[in-house]
Amino acid sequence: MRRESGGRIDRGTTLRFIFDGTEYTGHPGDTLASALLANGVRQVATSVKLGRPRGIVSAGGEEPSAVVQIEAPFPEPMLPATTVELYEGLVASSIPGQGRLATEPDPARYDAVHAHCDVLVVGAGPAGLAAARAAAGTGARVILADERSEPGGSLLGTRESVTEPEADDVLGPQEVSPGAEWAAATAAMLDGLPEVRVLPRTTVIGYYDDNYVVAVERRTNHLGAAAPADVARERVWRIRAKRVVLATGAHERSIAFAGNDLPGVMLAGSARAYANRYGVLPGRRAVVFTANDSAYAAAFDLADAGVEIAAIVDVRPAPGAAWAAGARERGIEVLAGHVVTAAQGDGQVCAVLVGRHRPDGEAAVGERELAADLLLVSGGWNPVVHLFSQSGGTLRYDEGLGTLVPDASRQAVEAAGAAKGVFTLTGCLADGAAAGHRALEAAHGTAVAERAAPPRATVEPATAPGAAFWLVPATDYRTHFVDPQRDVTVADVLKATGAGLRSVEHIKRYTTAGTAHDQGKTSGLLTTAIVAHALGVSVGEVGSTTFRAPYAPVSFAALAGRDRGLLHDPVRVTALHEWHVANGALFENVGQWKRPWYYPRAGEDMEAAVLRECAAARESVAAMDASTLGKIDVIGPDAAEFLDRLYTNLMSSLAVGAVRYGVMCRPDGMVFDDGTVIRLAEEHFLVTTTTGNAAAVLDWMEEWLQTEWPELRVHCTSVTEQWATVALVGPRSREVLAGLAPDLAVGAADFPFMTWRETEVAGIPARVCRISFSGELAYEINVTSWDGLRLWTAIMDTGLVTPYGTETMHVLRAEKGYPIVGQDTDGTVTPQDLGMSWVVSKKKPDFIGKRSFSRADTSRADRKQLVGLLPEDPAVLLPEGAHLVAGAEPPEPPVPTLGHVTSSYRSAALGRTFALALVRGGPSRAGERLYAPVGGALVPVTVTSHVLYDPEGARRDG
Ligand code: NAD
Repeated sequence: MRRESGGRIDRGTTLRFIFDGTEYTGHPGDTLASALLANGVRQVATSVKLGRPRGIVSAGGEEPSAVVQIEAPFPEPMLPATTVELYEGLVASSIPGQGRLATEPDPARYDAVHAHCDVLVVGAGPAGLAAARAAAGTGARVILADERSEPGGSLLGTRESVTEPEADDVLGPQEVSPGAEWAAATAAMLDGLPEVRVLPRTTVIGYYDDNYVVAVERRTNHLGAAAPADVARERVWRIRAKRVVLATGAHERSIAFAGNDLPGVMLAGSARAYANRYGVLPGRRAVVFTANDSAYAAAFDLADAGVEIAAIVDVRPAPGAAWAAGARERGIEVLAGHVVTAAQGDGQVCAVLVGRHRPDGEAAVGERELAADLLLVSGGWNPVVHLFSQSGGTLRYDEGLGTLVPDASRQAVEAAGAAKGVFTLTGCLADGAAAGHRALEAAHGTAVAERAAPPRATVEPATAPGAAFWLVPATDYRTHFVDPQRDVTVADVLKATGAGLRSVEHIKRYTTAGTAHDQGKTSGLLTTAIVAHALGVSVGEVGSTTFRAPYAPVSFAALAGRDRGLLHDPVRVTALHEWHVANGALFENVGQWKRPWYYPRAGEDMEAAVLRECAAARESVAAMDASTLGKIDVIGPDAAEFLDRLYTNLMSSLAVGAVRYGVMCRPDGMVFDDGTVIRLAEEHFLVTTTTGNAAAVLDWMEEWLQTEWPELRVHCTSVTEQWATVALVGPRSREVLAGLAPDLAVGAADFPFMTWRETEVAGIPARVCRISFSGELAYEINVTSWDGLRLWTAIMDTGLVTPYGTETMHVLRAEKGYPIVGQDTDGTVTPQDLGMSWVVSKKKPDFIGKRSFSRADTSRADRKQLVGLLPEDPAVLLPEGAHLVAGAEPPEPPVPTLGHVTSSYRSAALGRTFALALVRGGPSRAGERLYAPVGGALVPVTVTSHVLYDPEGARRDG
């Protein structure tokens, strides 16, 4: 079906490709769709629900039907064949509704770019090119982005030409030229200006606040195999623009009639583009069905290219005079006041039924059958208002144009050309130039003289108003498709309105119209109009569904960019990591950190290793790498005041040289994080956080400082990685420390609990804190991270110290009833629920969460509170998360749960298992028997205090 000559394809080069197992050829400049049509392939997909054959409907990104699977060189599911540029070796196949994701990792690279500009023009059709030209050449930074491979927009698909009334002083003289050549020359001139960037193959997908616009650029090697390794396949552009001109054009829309989804039914403007741009005849004999003049231009171009036009069926009583004359000249019959009642054919169009249009809304009757293999349709044009709407701009229904047009803008943006409802070439060129000039002045903030009169169409016949025509009335609506990709028909829409639905948003969800990957570009307003028809209201009253980003589907790979694989979630290791690996540690992931979990010896399982490690810490001495604890330096004249507001307890009273445990709550009074605060100097604190929450706490501090308390003179700096921390734990820890730190007075009186000292340990400058997360005598030794391994090795070289991991740490702290934020808490737990009323200041005037502690809900007696649980069988280990019930018999659902197990372990020190749990009424149930499910049976447990080991705190000083 390839024409003898013409089209913007390189006929000298032949590309081979495979579709559904058959090899075909095409040329550079083709899309997969144009190449398939050139080879006479009509059916390219099968519909998702009804299994109906589907063909190519459009020539652009609005395609609602011809969605294919790319197989090679790299699988890409669900791409419109109309947007896939042809390349050598392309392998594609039709899909029954759904695509397939790749099973192998994608070897290609994806990138992201940040860009700033004064004027961003979206769309390089006549309006966009005129806008960019008006804004360029004055020092303003201009970006011109268009989703297609070539500039020119709709000009690429027509035979129109453009005249420059006068030479442009910046861009030089131009002459009358065919539209596509004018577009190429203008884009090339723009690209040559240093402050202008022309981005072809770049789809703007989202418009956000503050004129932040996101685009995806498909590089020339988008899907091609011969990708240079250093070129990313796709790039995400994050653009911040002072002003935006949306010259995104218009999408032609279909009309609902019987069989309007058959392969061979095509939008009129798209058929015209196949003939002119790609040199392809989409059929041999065509019927044209229209409600406006634009389809006449399509009919004439196709007729001149050799397609027989069986008739133009026009619902209007009469077309524009110039168009009627053009039809007469070509001997084309015009059936004014008629409609197409059905497209007929088995697998593709072979005949078209035509009948008289009944303005009274009665069903039209097919009176005449016209043989045709192509049916061109134009129900009107919808301005591409998606981005304008996403920017917050409002839309209004224009009765005259029969479509939605941009109304008021909320950001520094305006629509231009067909995107604004201007449907003549001269109008689009003038409108684009004016919008570009306004954007330039706004960006510069001053008046700027216009440089040259805008270009105009060389010849343009006058157009008569179109008719807003949507639906050919019939008695059976089961093949009047509104959304072919979702197989939604007029019958489905009527079923929805019949069920009582009125809102187009509800009808969209009920019928799924507009939810496919084209997001209703050609079907959205048609659905609205059918709803309006059914409800007997105006189209404007029904309105449209919300236009949301992305405008076109985006690959996850593009959004991920380089943040993939190991870069997606970096692995963090401590300064001591290599020792842990060399000594057989198994690791646990805590946040991004790898923490030693336990160090099994030959023949030991986890249980044996943990019991041994626990025993060492309780009876002798053991050490843990605690470097992952979050550490934040808080410094400044108001640091003490700041911490008083953040923590529930008082921090300003802390003496230099002392350490205090603290809890932070959210404004709702629920525990957010806990840790210790060290006062290093009058205006300098070091705060430690839980490992997993370090970034969140820093973020929290910054948020309060920057938004609520900007008057506080405080700086917060993460120093987590700057320090290596070793916890030295157990009754013999003092002896080990004394040996390694001869200068340090280690006696209980000289170095009391909750203080810190500056000294040398193993010859390394160190800050030693006397704090304990196990109840035993313990020290936390901090050195710079590059000395961490040396410190740890020196401790291990004493031969006295057992290394232990996070599992043992958990057991030791649980025996003492110390909760872990995020394990024993879940965002619904107050410090009081954890038995820590003492950590909530009664004296401080205010702190985050204080107000919430006087709410009735936080003082309820039956809140879930932390308790200990002892299974009656001391060998039974309760599963963490197990729910607790009152009776021994399984209760009827819904089960009235009393709480759940948060931590559960075997204890060497207690010689049995135990658990911590959050239980309704908590401590008031001490001594009660409850039941927990273990392995399918309910086992009895006794409620007890959450402090099970050394409740007097006798072991703290060794
Ligand atoms: P255009 O359609 O020529 O160009 C719009 C360009 O924007 C296209 O290349 C499109 O691919 C691109 N685009 C759309 N959305 C995009 C996005 N999100 N990201 C990147 N690119 C995007 O539009 P125009 O410049 O306004 O010119 C319209 C032309 O069409 C005029 O010549 C006009 O006469 C003609 N037209 C005529 C009728 C009629 O009824 N006779 C109707 C509509 C349009």
